[in-house]
Amino acid sequence: MLDKSALEKAAKVISLSKRTFALTGAGISVESGIPDFRSPNGLWNKYPPEEYATLDAFKANPDKVWEMFQEMYAILKSADPNPGHLALSKMEELGLLHGIVTQNIDRLHQRAGSGFIVEVHGTTKGLHCTECFHVDDYGDVEEDVAYCPRCLSPMKPPVVLFNEQMPREALTQAFGMASKAEVLIIVGTSLEVYPIAEMPKMAARAGATLIEINLSPNKLKKYGAIELEGKAGDVLPRLLELITT
Ligand code: NAD
Ligand code: ZN
Repeated sequence: MLDKSALEKAAKVISLSKRTFALTGAGISVESGIPDFRSPNGLWNKYPPEEYATLDAFKANPDKVWEMFQEMYAILKSADPNPGHLALSKMEELGLLHGIVTQNIDRLHQRAGSGFIVEVHGTTKGLHCTECFHVDDYGDVEEDVAYCPRCLSPMKPPVVLFNEQMPREALTQAFGMASKAEVLIIVGTSLEVYPIAEMPKMAARAGATLIEINLSPNKLKKYGAIELEGKAGDVLPRLLELITT
């Protein structure tokens, strides 16, 4: 259950902070109808991520992985930002939040109106070639597998797959934000994917106060995190309301 005094404490540290960042994961988009990896659900039962969402699987069987992307994109298309995404966007507008690092590829933060977003696991816009790194900004997964006009290899969306290189610039930016944060709000992530899972630890060591929002916020106890238990779409708007009233 959401602890009211923890919520008040979180509201206070955010209102006093000059540099607050958020780190978000799949959990913030669950209420938009996009399943996360670690809860039972249709898409990931059909395509276990360890088996399908890997660069090796894509290279061995691009048609199959492309099919997974098509189903994923259909889910994304019918999803809209929820009150959690909207609260973060409003916080930025009010000068209470100075950037979001997201592990999500669903672009719901962009659609909610957030401006400063670092996508550490890639995104679902355009296509790229895994062999020669050619980028097609307008490519889409709606049709059959697209082939690179330069080297004829199958292209894929710039979503980072398991065992694929992460965008270095985004990671550098994220860790830079961790080192400068006064407050880091960690929302809906199991912190199991590295290296970004190190971000809260790094921020805490540099002196930041951590606030964890999760259905079961228990990953950051040893860093003294303020734990806000509940759905992101419920907790974030309540937090915003407390800060602004
Ligand atoms: P995860 O699936 O490992 O963990 C989700 C976390 O969110 C869990 O800790 C769960 O307790 C919590 N959660 C679930 N519903 C919630 C809610 N309504 N409110 C608050 N918390 C909630 O996700 P991850 O840590 O982001 O790691 C999985 C990897 O796969 C990441 O790279 C992730 O972004 C990617 N992924 C992305 C999407 C997306 O773009 N929406 C969807 C699935 C997976
Ligand atoms: Zn190519």
